[in-house]
This record gives sequence, C-alpha cells and structure tokens, in this order.
Amino acid sequence: MQSSLIDTQGRKISYLRVSVTDRCDMRCVYCMSENMEFLPRPEVLTYAELERLCAVFIRHGVRRIRLTGGEPLVRRDIGDFLLTLGRWIQPDATRPADATGPGLDELTLTTNGSQLGRYADLLARAGVRRVNVSLDSLKPDRFSAITRRGDLYRTLEGVRAARNAGLAVRINTVAMKGINDDEFDDLIVWCGEVGADLCLIETMPMGETGEDRRAQYLPLHAVRLSLQKRWTFEAASGAGGAGPARYVRIGETGQNLGFITPLSHNFCDSCNRVRLSCSGQLYTCLGSDGAVDLRAILRNGGSDADILEAIDLSLSRKPLRHEFLIPDNDAKVRGPTRLMSVTGG
Ligand code: SAM
Ligand code: SF4
Repeated sequence: MQSSLIDTQGRKISYLRVSVTDRCDMRCVYCMSENMEFLPRPEVLTYAELERLCAVFIRHGVRRIRLTGGEPLVRRDIGDFLLTLGRWIQPDATRPADATGPGLDELTLTTNGSQLGRYADLLARAGVRRVNVSLDSLKPDRFSAITRRGDLYRTLEGVRAARNAGLAVRINTVAMKGINDDEFDDLIVWCGEVGADLCLIETMPMGETGEDRRAQYLPLHAVRLSLQKRWTFEAASGAGGAGPARYVRIGETGQNLGFITPLSHNFCDSCNRVRLSCSGQLYTCLGSDGAVDLRAILRNGGSDADILEAIDLSLSRKPLRHEFLIPDNDAKVRGPTRLMSVTGG
C-alpha cells in the first residue's frame, strides 16, 4: 500500500513514536520535575486502543514504531503488548488476521534500562532488534543525582542483558554543561567495551522541570570538535538512517558516535515522524504544542476512516520546523509547554 501520510511540505511520515505511559521510576532533571503528577489511569489509552491506532498508522505507511514513555517497561503487561505489536514485523506468518499491507520494518524501544534485565529476552522474542538506553553518567552518585532515583548498576545490568539477548544498543546521553561534560571520553571507551553505539543529545527546553535550561545547555558542535582531536572519526555505516542523529564511526572502538543537535543545527526538513502520547494525543512535532485528540475519536465510536481523517488534519498542521530556542543572551528560552515524558523524545 502506498503511504497516504504525507504532510503539506511533502514530508512522508513512516515513523511513529508511541508513548505507552507517562509514568517512570526515575525523575531525570531535564525531563521531569521532582514532584510529578501523573495522568489518572482512565485517561491513558488501553492496549487495545493503542493497538488499533498503531494498526491504522501501519496500514497507511508507517514502517517503524518506537515505544517510549515515561518508562515503557514499567507499564504492567507491556510484554504482551510488545509481542502483539511484534506480529506486524514482516515477514511474519502470525500477522493479525485483518492485517493487510507491508507491515513494520522495525519495532524498537527507548528505555532507561532499569527493567531491561527482565525484559531483554522477551524483546528479542517480540522481534525487537535494537534498543536505545538512556545513560548520562557512569559515576554512581552522579547517575543517582541526574535521575533523582535511578541505580546505575541496574541500568548497566540491563545493557548487559540486552547485549546478551542479541540486541543492538545505542546509549543516549543528554550532554549537560558542568554536569556530565567531563565523561564523554569515558562513555566512548565503555561503549566500545560493551559493543554499544553512543549518541550525545542537546538538552531541549520542554516544559517546566524546575531546572535552568540555559545553565544546562551545551552546544554539541564544540564538543564534536574537541572529541575529534582525541578520537579518529570515520564515515559511519548502518547507524540508523533517516533520524536526526548525525553519526561518525570511532576508529579506535569500531562503534558509532551520534550527535542530536536540535538547538544548534536544525534537521526538520527531513522529519519523517509523528508522536502519539499515552492519552491519545497526536503530536506532529517534538518542538511544538499542537496536537489532535485521537482518543476522543476512539472513545466516541469513530471508525478507522475517522481516525485517518484526524491524522490527515494533524499532518496538514505539521510545523515547518520546531520552536526550540536557548539564546546565549537574556532573551527568553523557547519551547513547548509539555514535558519530554509526554511524547518520549
Ligand atoms: N524513559 C525512557 C528513557 O529515559 O530512555 C524513555 C523516555 S525519555 C523521555 C526519552 C529520551 O528523551 C531519553 O533519552 C531522555 O534522555 C531524553 N530526554 C528527556 N528529556 C529531555 C530534554 N529535555 N532534552 C533532551 N533529551 C531529553
Ligand atoms: Fe524517566 Fe526517561 Fe524521563 Fe528519565 S528521561 S525521567 S527515565 S522518562
């Protein structure tokens, strides 16, 4: 089936990020506030509702789905949901009976790794081939301070379990000035040892977390130049294609190193993705607040055609580019009002 998901700029939408929960067992300083209030459970889409929306997206051209959150692996029965979605990965003889069209090329997950130890094998069984694991420090105290309640060794154990289950791993590290900017070399070395890629991410001003975004922000172009003096940068291969990360291969370790630079270098021209929150709001841009309410359609008895119509409406409003701004003067920091945990990155 041809993709019908094309926005007004001609950008073809083939990638859906699905936040399955807004809850999390950590409270990372750049992502959430210390005292989070989570959505009442009735507001969160059931797995049946999530499956139905995913099926509509897949039938109309989505080829990759990434589950995220909050922390996706803390939602109860997430394993069953993963196994169900995994049946859409092609080729798969166990495809749902009403599934037509090409199905998914890839099902992936972004996780903080705390529950990976117990889920890694199931993920592999569900057809997941690679996961992104967030890890901002290899120092136990610093890791606990950044995540406010995380345990470094649990996440490290999760990464090991994922590698043992045969999953490719990309470590996501939010680069923060004065907080973890002395650890990039150590992270490169450690990623080489465990066989993981590494991706450095600029902190994005999303919602109010009680932290000063300007103080945290570290533009990655300078980091890249400085790393290039100590490591051999080669052309990267097979590091995940059309996403916002720009990769090099580190000659000394053989692993890829990516840079996600929404603030210092815009990449919206090639954006191929939309994001579904766990309450069924469809966001067409990470850096803007506009959303269309798919849950209302689901719960008012809407048909798949009604859902598709709402998706098309949402795409007609997909912004040309995001609104993030962290100025280097006293001007106002600009970004969406929602927290990153609403759409999961
Ligand atoms: N809990 C999972 C995790 O931490 O990987 C998935 C959800 S988390 C919101 C997804 C990604 O967003 C993580 O890699 C996290 O580091 C990143 N993130 C959260 N808030 C951010 C912010 N304000 N700027 C940049 N990245 C952020
Ligand atoms: Fe939780 Fe992930 Fe946000 Fe950290 S970044 S608070 S682990 S959702």
